[in-house]
Amino acid sequence: MQLRELRTQVLEANLEIVRSGLVISTFGNASGIDRDSGRVVIKPSGVDYDRLASDDLVVTDLEGVVVEGQLRPSSDLATHLELYKAFPEIGGVVHTHSRYATTWAQAGREIPCLGTTHADYFHGPVPLTEELTQEEIESAYEVNTGKVIARRFQGVDPQRFPSVLVKGHGPFSWGKDALDAAHTAELLEEIAHIAYTTCVLNPNAKPISQSLLDKHFLRKHGPKAYYGQ
Ligand SMILES: [Zn+2]
Repeated sequence: MQLRELRTQVLEANLEIVRSGLVISTFGNASGIDRDSGRVVIKPSGVDYDRLASDDLVVTDLEGVVVEGQLRPSSDLATHLELYKAFPEIGGVVHTHSRYATTWAQAGREIPCLGTTHADYFHGPVPLTEELTQEEIESAYEVNTGKVIARRFQGVDPQRFPSVLVKGHGPFSWGKDALDAAHTAELLEEIAHIAYTTCVLNPNAKPISQSLLDKHFLRKHGPKAYYGQ
């Protein structure tokens, strides 16, 4: 992919998460990676979204060294980089503090799969990380946020679970590119909202059966996918 195209995509993803109401103020960021060159494009730190232009975006390598751009990269860059290293199949990462997903993260609860809307995109509950230890917080906090996510995903396929809730913080989502990751972040927020209201209406609501979960997830994803809208 041309760097120009990657910049355009990452700009669009950053604007999309604001348009869709997932991000207020500067609580969010989107990035994308070109796997061939190992170049990562991410939102700069502290620039208002309504003034954000493609040339403001920062280009780094996988170690976080800035190779293009005048501005500082988002301070969450290190978390994004850990995710790109841990999940070689992904091409975009989005972080938000969207209201309902963050509510579950703060409550310290995975989002249970209570219905087929959820099962269309996640093959089970949306995972929750452990809390970071004091040492992890006080040393390389953003790197360690990525590492705590990677630890949670040991033995878990990130394509079957395209988001995570970082305990006491908020969600990270990913996809094949930055726009796909933004789309995942939007779906996650919708799923988090529906699950929240379901639990309010019926605190005893139970997850759907494994067979209904498999039916909905596997008809859209995986080798035997057949469903399209
Ligand atoms: Zn955050």
